[in-house]
Amino acid sequence: MRPKSPPSGPPASSLRRRKRQIASHLAVPPDALPGSLALTHRRCGKPSCHCADGQGHPVWSLTFMVQGKKPVENIPQPWVEAVRQRVDQGRQFKDSLAELFVLNAELLVLERKQQPNKNRQKRTAN
Ligand SMILES: [Zn+2]
Repeated sequence: MRPKSPPSGPPASSLRRRKRQIASHLAVPPDALPGSLALTHRRCGKPSCHCADGQGHPVWSLTFMVQGKKPVENIPQPWVEAVRQRVDQGRQFKDSLAELFVLNAELLVLERKQQPNKNRQKRTAN
């Protein structure tokens, strides 16, 4: 059901402009990845390895939520840049979608405010 009178005025029009801006750039990135990419260092345990005296070997991993669990997937070094880009795509998409939904909520609030309230009690000065 479409609202009979969409919210008007500068706040509503700037919200709608922002909304169009987001919507026009919003396309599902089909290869996007969830979660976050993190770098940790691990010692391999060999006493003769150079890592025994240092911070350890760099290990990249992707952590994400799946059905309430948080699997950690090790990412080979050559994959890191591509995986990072796919994680960024996912985050940007989620952020844009969240912003769009918030704009819709703000428009809803404005629309609600602009509707004559039949139930409002008449104010009387005390
Ligand atoms: Zn080592």
